[in-house]
Amino acid sequence: MKAITVEPMTSGSARWEDVPEPDAANGSVLVEAVAVGVCGTDVEIVEGKYGWAPSGKSRLVLGHESLGRVIDPGARSGLTKGDLVVGVVRRPDPVPCPNCAVGEWDMCRNGQYTERGIKQIDGYMSERWRIEPEYAMRVDSMLGILGVLLEPTTVVAKAWEMVKAVGQRSFWEPRNVLVTGAGPIGLLAALIGRQAGLDVHVLDRVTTGSKPDLVKALGATYHSTSVSNVGFEPDIIIECTGVGQVIAESILNVGSGGIVCLTGVGRGGAAAGAAIADVAATAVLRNNVIVGSVNANKRHWYKAAQVLARADRTWLGGLITRREKPEHFMRALERRPDDIKVVIQFSDM
Ligand SMILES: [Zn+2]
Repeated sequence: MKAITVEPMTSGSARWEDVPEPDAANGSVLVEAVAVGVCGTDVEIVEGKYGWAPSGKSRLVLGHESLGRVIDPGARSGLTKGDLVVGVVRRPDPVPCPNCAVGEWDMCRNGQYTERGIKQIDGYMSERWRIEPEYAMRVDSMLGILGVLLEPTTVVAKAWEMVKAVGQRSFWEPRNVLVTGAGPIGLLAALIGRQAGLDVHVLDRVTTGSKPDLVKALGATYHSTSVSNVGFEPDIIIECTGVGQVIAESILNVGSGGIVCLTGVGRGGAAAGAAIADVAATAVLRNNVIVGSVNANKRHWYKAAQVLARADRTWLGGLITRREKPEHFMRALERRPDDIKVVIQFSDM
């Protein structure tokens, strides 16, 4: 079969090449790939900045935002041939740490977790892949290709859970939320905010393309200004850009008793005028909380499936702005101005 593989930490090493059939060690369920979403992590791995090959190998099969069709459910998986499934990304560390021991691998303490397509386990960008039954999440066949949005939705399902958990520290009746960044994560965060009945605002740099319309279609408000100029004090900010300036402004402009949830992973950037002691003083005097959120455990996968089932399918379809064939995977990794979610399509629905 063929797969998109890469030698981690080696720029320019990505290839669409022949590889052996999927290893039975990766699970008893055999799946035919339908589509795999591309995100910034994939771009970083292909650029040689991130990623780890499986033990004893030099190359890693890329891809963690999966959607596939069961070819062989194996024994006692509860799955049927033809079911649409999405593979969970992270696996608990082998020690395991207390959080992995109770199934909260997203909260892993020792960093020895592994991840399909990222860290030491082959990913889902191969014509066929195998998975353990307990990590194969069945998606409603009505969703079709939209099932590929499940993995990014798990990330925001967890972020919202973090926000709610922090909110329970005191009397808290949030009315509005500001989401920074109208990429797939930001738009899915806005979707959940609307499903919760909140007044949702989304901020991004662009003024053209489909992002403003997608935000309006949710019944939310689109802003192409800075966080300090949105005209209100957000009760909640979900930060999805990873850009230093936006993060600093979010922390300094969230309302009193507010919560800033960071989901974007960036690097460096200008200090943007927010000295650490000033940030701390604001947080102390206004009882603000800054919480980081990454990855997802099974509970979030369950919640994410509910979010997608409740959402308008035409709206979800608007998030997938480009589909590329696997042999043109380098095109899928390009970032074009109007892209939201680009997927590599392996087979027809
Ligand atoms: Zn762990």
